[in-house]
Amino acid sequence: MTRRISHWIDGKPFSGIAERSGDVFDPATGEVAAKVDFASQDEVSEAVAAAKRALPGWRGTSLAGRTRVMFAFRELLAARRDELAKIVTSEHGKVESDAAGEIARGLENVEYACGAAQLLKGGFSENVSTGVDVYSIAQPLGVVGVISPFNFPAMVPLWFVPNAIACGNTVVLKPSEKDPSAANFIAELFAEAGLPDGVLNVLHGDKVAVDGLLEHPDVKAISFVGSTPIARYVYETGTRNGKRVQALGGAKNHMIVLPDADLDLAADAAVSAGFGSAGERCMAVSVLVAVGPAGDELVGKITDRMTALKVGDGRNPESEMGPLVTAAHHARVESYVDAGVASGATLVVDGRGVEADGGEGGFWLGPTLFDHVRPEMSIYTDEIFGPVLAVVRAEGYDEALALINANPYGNGTAIFTNDGGAARRFQNEVEVGMVGVNVPIPVPVSYYSFGGWKDSLFGDSHAYGPEGFHFFTRTKVVTSRWLDPSHGGVNLGFPRNS
Ligand code: NAD
Repeated sequence: MTRRISHWIDGKPFSGIAERSGDVFDPATGEVAAKVDFASQDEVSEAVAAAKRALPGWRGTSLAGRTRVMFAFRELLAARRDELAKIVTSEHGKVESDAAGEIARGLENVEYACGAAQLLKGGFSENVSTGVDVYSIAQPLGVVGVISPFNFPAMVPLWFVPNAIACGNTVVLKPSEKDPSAANFIAELFAEAGLPDGVLNVLHGDKVAVDGLLEHPDVKAISFVGSTPIARYVYETGTRNGKRVQALGGAKNHMIVLPDADLDLAADAAVSAGFGSAGERCMAVSVLVAVGPAGDELVGKITDRMTALKVGDGRNPESEMGPLVTAAHHARVESYVDAGVASGATLVVDGRGVEADGGEGGFWLGPTLFDHVRPEMSIYTDEIFGPVLAVVRAEGYDEALALINANPYGNGTAIFTNDGGAARRFQNEVEVGMVGVNVPIPVPVSYYSFGGWKDSLFGDSHAYGPEGFHFFTRTKVVTSRWLDPSHGGVNLGFPRNS
């Protein structure tokens, strides 16, 4: 019997029969490991109704009570992180040490949410007018939807769910149908931590589930992470339906290497950030811009490092890079390698036909390097989301900067240099939301916020951190008078402060 993965609604696994389902693969063998239920419109309504029923109780739970649940969840997640890492690897394919890394970053978001009591403090101004005080309160939005991508099945839900819950909202989480089990594990841990039934629900599925949330009148906000076309669609549809939406999209992250940089450091960084998680990271480096004479030596150093990488089953501790997530994604990424060759880029390392230490049917593609890539080639213009690194040559800093600023994406970028002045100029001039200086994957810590510019984010708020708390609350300002209720009788003039 194939394992079935179903929704988690109102504090328990959903027992109904699904009309539709999808295959969940073991990417290292290519076998179908489970079937995941795809929600119908009725199941969307059931999940939203459960969240709505739970709202008054959870919104009314004291900050102390909400914080206690968050601390308990933090302890459970820390204790069972290895189990979760194994689940992530079994469905995503990334190596277990990398899965452990995403859980570590997710845990930092839970720790941030544990500070809700501090973060939700409002302001208070005494005696703004004679006998009048003014104060602000941050209140939850209500039922919120979280829609997440396949590439971080634990971390991205943990970017949003803890903050949303800590702020007093109730949640329907719709994880990627490609690797859905991590979301159920997180929901079960929250239940064990004492989260009341219905506060966090997991709804599995595809476009039907997403559209159901986008159109449901009881869903007040949507946090989405995924590819740019879907992010744009979610933003436009959600806002048209009156919801608050933050929709994080795709990326094409450039790393500039200036000629004065430490080239060994830069080569290590390019290989780590280009091929970690088989390039299936929104902060992966996918374009390296080699400035001036640095190019040839750098490409040599990168090639040496790439050819030593061990590709294999993520469950094997020796493996450094796992397979791609599905056969369809593998075919798509490989087609870009073919297109790169056809367009005349120099294929320095060819990952096609790699001999991986894993199942014969696994979705393997080895690390691939193109040099002399030009901006009109599809391997440059498109987000490939695989282990394919493109090197573009630029004559100077200005040309490299112009290339990045002309790109429609603006998620992450990095500069490698020993020139502080150049780095400072870059951080000021580059039109990208997250910038690394000699740091290749500048994912902000949990107490800053994560977000790209341009086609990498639709909406006004970045994810998690202070902007996350801002997104999941709305502010109320109270103006009150107690001491001197007399205000001089009827006065049709606009109130003035005295
Ligand atoms: P995706 O856009 O295919 O899917 C994301 C979510 O949208 C999933 O839950 C999926 O079920 C749903 N979805 C897919 N097609 C849909 C449709 N037609 N209508 C409605 N919903 C739909 O993305 P993915 O392949 O799961 O993830 C990879 C993408 O996510 C990459 O583009 C990557 O750059 C991006 N990403 C961005 C960030 C970021 O923070 N900016 C982080 C991680 C991943």
